[in-house]
This record gives sequence, structure tokens and C-alpha cells, in this order.
Amino acid sequence: MDDFRYLPGVTTLKLDEKACIGCGMCLAVCPHGVFVINERTAKVIDRDGCMECGACATNCPVNALSVDPGVGCAAYIIQSWIKGKENASCGDGGCC
Ligand code: SF4
Ligand code: SF4
Repeated sequence: MDDFRYLPGVTTLKLDEKACIGCGMCLAVCPHGVFVINERTAKVIDRDGCMECGACATNCPVNALSVDPGVGCAAYIIQSWIKGKENASCGDGGCC
């Protein structure tokens, strides 16, 4: 899904490069190729590819990553328009 694009500039993904130990776990679990490892540190190379699934933050062993899962999920936003925010969820749209 390298061509996946969500709304530009909305992801809550944050990477603390100083905390990163370069283990590569975020590369392994990210479904959209958001990261590379460069000089033993993760780098975000495709921020707008992030759909806030939360896998990278969940699996980072040193908590160098944070993201608010679902906040930027397309399914969540569409559902929030239709059903209201309290009834919307990210997982129902099959994107994650
Ligand atoms: S939240 Fe999901 S899509 Fe976004 S960078 Fe992390 S693993 Fe990739
Ligand atoms: S999972 Fe965490 S420590 Fe490992 S490369 Fe990614 S950001 Fe760095």
C-alpha cells in the first residue's frame, strides 16, 4: 500500500529520534512504509502515508514513537460525519 494517502498533514505520529535505538521494529510493523533506518535511527520518510494504526508505537521497545490511534483514520472521520464522534470507530472501515 505504498500509494496509500490519507489527508495531508494531519497525522499525530511523533518520533523521538534521540530515544530511538534503531531496532527496526517500526519498519517491520508499519503497513505503509513510513519509516527507514538511517545511521541507526528511525526516520519518517512518508508522514502522510501514516494512517494512525498505532502498530509502530505499540511495538517500539523504548517508547520513541507516539500516535493517537484512529484520530486520522479515514473510516473514523467518515463515520464521525455520519454517526457522530461518539459512535465512530477506526476499525470498521477495513483500512487498518
Ligand atoms: S501508526 Fe501505523 S501507519 Fe502510522 S507510522 Fe505507525 S505503523 Fe505506520
Ligand atoms: S521501533 Fe522504536 S527504537 Fe526501534 S527503530 Fe523504530 S523508533 Fe527506533
